[in-house]
Amino acid sequence: MNRRKFIQQTLAAGAALSVANKLKAVSYTDTVNPVIITTWNSGLKSNPVGWQVLADGGRALDACEAGVKIVEADPTDTSVGIGGFPDRDGHVTLDACVMDEFGNCGSVVFIEDILHPVSVARLVMEKTPHVFLAGSGAQQFALENGFKKENLLTDNARNAWLKWKEEKNYIPSEHAPNHDTIGMIALDKKGNLSGACSTSGWAFKVRGRFGDSPVIGAGLFVDNEYGAATATGLGEVMIKICGTHLICEFMRMGQSPQQACQNAVKRVYDKFPNYRKDQICFIALGKDGRHGAYSMTKGFQYTITKEGESVVIDSDYLVK
Ligand code: ASP
Repeated sequence: MNRRKFIQQTLAAGAALSVANKLKAVSYTDTVNPVIITTWNSGLKSNPVGWQVLADGGRALDACEAGVKIVEADPTDTSVGIGGFPDRDGHVTLDACVMDEFGNCGSVVFIEDILHPVSVARLVMEKTPHVFLAGSGAQQFALENGFKKENLLTDNARNAWLKWKEEKNYIPSEHAPNHDTIGMIALDKKGNLSGACSTSGWAFKVRGRFGDSPVIGAGLFVDNEYGAATATGLGEVMIKICGTHLICEFMRMGQSPQQACQNAVKRVYDKFPNYRKDQICFIALGKDGRHGAYSMTKGFQYTITKEGESVVIDSDYLVK
């Protein structure tokens, strides 16, 4: 075989291999081992519920919605749903989004008095031609679709707000004081990825503020060919770097979920020196079930569930 022919054959074999890899990456018929990964240790409550959906062969989207609803309904969680700390005027305002394996997404921002914003976000995705609904419009849409108004301000959250008002004189803190947003991403038995995210956001924020959690590409992104990512921490930063979309693009370029999370945090570190002391946290899940997690500072934890077992893991972090 002459050199030219050898090179042609090698290139053809390489091309065939890369097409095969690509086909493998987008195969929707394999039975794969499901995985769920969730920000923080509230995953110990939410993941088993999502896991049951996956174990029964259900969609990753259904698993994520079911899991996130557990935390939204938990009054002891002060960053999500009922019990979430209010804005500086004493109103609990919630943000949530979902994204499925087809790239569909839905989101509600600044919604009040509705217990399950994640389910409203899903309905926005499924029943409207839009992605975002905000404030009173989001609430109206929820009520029209059978949701009920509920008081979400618990005594604990109200007392924390009154104390804050007294101490801080109505001036929002420069660094988000309360993190626990639930971001959940899952891989189902068909090999499809989806995610959901829900939060009451930055405690005692300026009225009207919403962060990254409901913003597709910032707080959550799903690229069903390569991976999915979600975030928690100082939302303004995730928005400034389109953090979860960035992570999915890194995975598309061949980085592992771990490398992708590290590089997103590094991007913040390099570009925004003012945020080097803030909690900025990402988790990611690859199409092949590998996961990654990384944060700017110490203290971030995430929960991973595989084969029905849930474990809380301390994330590695950049600023040591
Ligand atoms: N990322 C959320 C936000 O900025 C807050 C958090 O995760 O604690 O609204």
